[in-house]
Amino acid sequence: MSNKTLMLPDRLYRYLLEVSLRETELQRQLREETAKDSMARMQIAPEQGQFMALLVDLLGARRVLEIGVYTGYSALCMASALPPDGRLVACDMSEEWTRIARRYWHAAGVADRIDLRLAPAMDTLAALLADGQEASFDFAFIDADKREYQDYFEETLKLLRVGGLMAIDNTLWNGSVIDPDDKSEDTIAIRSFNEYLHCDDRISISLVPIGDGLTLARKR
Ligand code: SAM
Ligand code: CA
Repeated sequence: MSNKTLMLPDRLYRYLLEVSLRETELQRQLREETAKDSMARMQIAPEQGQFMALLVDLLGARRVLEIGVYTGYSALCMASALPPDGRLVACDMSEEWTRIARRYWHAAGVADRIDLRLAPAMDTLAALLADGQEASFDFAFIDADKREYQDYFEETLKLLRVGGLMAIDNTLWNGSVIDPDDKSEDTIAIRSFNEYLHCDDRISISLVPIGDGLTLARKR
């Protein structure tokens, strides 16, 4: 996976950031702290965080779902774009990583907008549906276990309202999707997921080549 937009020459990527990135000091510090972790490449690119915040704003979203929190950068970006009474339900299983996330959410003053659920994401999605929250979310970001993407997608589609938007991360998977020799489980899962979405007429789609590939799917 990649935590910068793929395939752009370094100088052009730096230019893109110089003329467009509007990152808060806390967001920058969170990236800096996360960079010390061996899994730091899991974090989304800052320009992608800004793009998703723009989508949340454009949709006038009040209810957002995130599957895959890690140290909380993407959730911080999205929660900051919500109105004060907006809610982000954030799914992860790691106490350790989300402890860092909570610290930054508190510092940014958005902790009260974020409902962190520490459990396997499929259990949390089932619980939300059992709780009558079908068709109640405006925006959802999917970024956890690649082998479960199709299951997250199906459950999340039920949770989204008509016209709501799902953003699914890493759909270009650092280019591995076109490497015929790459037969790893994650790569196979992402390839088949991309093909699955391509012919799904319940949604309108666009695969945006930002970060590591971000597929947008709007519920019809
Ligand atoms: N969106 C995050 C960001 O921008 O910093 C990165 C998320 S990282 C790629 C994936 C996260 O999904 C990890 O924190 C991992 O603990 C979590 N995860 C993996 N499998 C999961 C599952 N089955 N249920 C819930 N969380 C899961
Ligand atoms: Ca990701």
